[in-house]
Amino acid sequence: MRRMWNVAVCKKGGNVTFMLLRSLRSITKRNLSTTVRLLNEEEPPVETTEQNVEQEAAAKPKPKETVGFIGLGNMGHNMGMNLLKGGYNLVVYDVYPEAVEPFKALGATAVTTPRLVAQQVKKIITMLPSSPDVKEVYNGDSGIFRGIQEGTLLIDSSTIDPSVSKEMSKLAADHKTSYMDAPVSGGVVAARDATLTFMVGGKADDFVLAEQLLNHMAKNVVHCGAVGTGQAAKICNNMLLAISMIGTSEVMNLGTRLGLDKKMLAHILNISTGRCWSSELYNPCPGVVEGVPSSNNYQGGFGTQLMAKDLGLAQNASTETKSATPMGSLAHQLYRVMCNRGYGKLDFSSVYKFLREDL
Ligand code: NAD
Repeated sequence: MRRMWNVAVCKKGGNVTFMLLRSLRSITKRNLSTTVRLLNEEEPPVETTEQNVEQEAAAKPKPKETVGFIGLGNMGHNMGMNLLKGGYNLVVYDVYPEAVEPFKALGATAVTTPRLVAQQVKKIITMLPSSPDVKEVYNGDSGIFRGIQEGTLLIDSSTIDPSVSKEMSKLAADHKTSYMDAPVSGGVVAARDATLTFMVGGKADDFVLAEQLLNHMAKNVVHCGAVGTGQAAKICNNMLLAISMIGTSEVMNLGTRLGLDKKMLAHILNISTGRCWSSELYNPCPGVVEGVPSSNNYQGGFGTQLMAKDLGLAQNASTETKSATPMGSLAHQLYRVMCNRGYGKLDFSSVYKFLREDL
């Protein structure tokens, strides 16, 4: 409170005061109104001390940091936009040239290879479909490692094999740079609303450097441990999500065929022990929850193909660690069959539609 008081008094005078107050990171709506009220009251003179000067300097707008962003698809587009809103400058690249256009229109610099991104910035976020794409973007002929500057922090938010994250981390260390895996949960809506959960694997010092940046796109940023642990947490979550989505779909199909009203059945599940995220917030049966993919012909959301990929990663990890995951294995096979039958681009809740097909 004392810090705000000093800055407000030193810069008393309409908009300037207000802008400075806004730029103080610690301010909340409640203490803003308290501070504005204080300005209208009798205020004691404030000495110009070294501390006050430092506080004023801290309140001045900082030059914008420039960050690289590679992979501007369903997720990356929204995440990048939130960084622009947060005041960062961006250097962007996507293999699909149209993806960079909205960023160029907002003042970002678009370049034509990952190497050129790496030459211009010392923090890079990647959001790519799968492990081979990450290997290509980091270590390909025009990849990040061909142009990287010492001390760069690399943050990969793609969902990939934890062993590939470890491989990239080792290559990063060879170039005197740092790599973190930071996959997300929350989907396209959370990416748009900056409410993602980041599961981060990497060194504690790097986490401190990454956290502020990630907070512009997130509701939760969790440090899971060493490199690879973010991916481990992510694939465990998605395996459970797939299993619970299949279970919910089976039950919604069975119940409605037994003559139960779909909304009544969902209501019973959601006040009983069968309740889960898939039954309550993302119900796969069309018309139960408004605004989710099942109520929009399974368009948008999280693609069946991506879910099949994540379940494959979970199965690789199960094999490596000799873990028994029979339900995860079955879920993987079911989503694979769906991909082969043309469901790949539909949201993963379309397993309900698939189960209702009279085969
Ligand atoms: P997407 O396919 O929509 O976007 C990927 C982007 O990467 C595309 O714009 C593509 O052109 C670009 N790209 C592909 N190869 C590239 C290359 N070599 N160089 C540069 N750009 C390249 O995928 P998405 O839905 O944004 O998902 C990205 C990652 O996030 C995936 O790993 C996915 O599993 C994960 N994820 C997705 C969701 C979701 O709901 N979509 C949720 C959580 C996590």
